[in-house]
Amino acid sequence: MDFEASTSPRFFVLTEGATRSHYDVDVDPVEPVSLGDAPCCPQCGGFVGMLPWLPPYRVELELHGEELGDFISAPGYEWLISERVAEAFRAEGLTGLEGFHPVEVLRVKCMRKRPRKPLTVPRYHVVWPCFSRAAVDLVLNRVRTVEPLTCLECRVAGINAINGFVLEPGTWGGEDIFRPRGMPGTIVVSERFKDFVEKHGFTNVVLTPTEQYVWDPSNLGPAPLPVA
Ligand SMILES: [Zn+2]
Repeated sequence: MDFEASTSPRFFVLTEGATRSHYDVDVDPVEPVSLGDAPCCPQCGGFVGMLPWLPPYRVELELHGEELGDFISAPGYEWLISERVAEAFRAEGLTGLEGFHPVEVLRVKCMRKRPRKPLTVPRYHVVWPCFSRAAVDLVLNRVRTVEPLTCLECRVAGINAINGFVLEPGTWGGEDIFRPRGMPGTIVVSERFKDFVEKHGFTNVVLTPTEQYVWDPSNLGPAPLPVA
């Protein structure tokens, strides 16, 4: 038995359900939309994230599927979560989400001709996963980047392809949902978060073990191993 593998924590990448799925929906923030300043790396000063969306949170939802799910990705780094998720997350003491501001849903546009049953619109809250000290080693994980990695703090180098990854041992601070250094555009969750999603049967959320997570739109494959 591989002792290392059986004891090290497991992590999963959180994504929405597939396009054209039962819960497929787009979020349109309603004007006026205010945006804050993009977060910067304390070491190199480079941008490590997109402009944050500031209140008021007013949206129109464009439903391509048939039902509204518990998790909805908004433009930028924000997500809408249903009240059911927000309450359970807080009641069970999970960590790593920030925000929890109420969202006003002004309209739901049903893009299908005829929904099969009357639509229920949950109360939504806007949240964003925190930036974590947990780090991804872009070289060891053979991530394809736009530029060579220059800052070991933020490890932001622009990502072209991910073909599975692991976190650097000892860097994770215990958050249940977060953005790791090196992959700020990727949401990673703990095993506890996965159990939480499964126990409650939350919808429109897909969890993939980080080792199996592939995001490679141009089919580049893993980066070559560095020459020793
Ligand atoms: Zn940096």
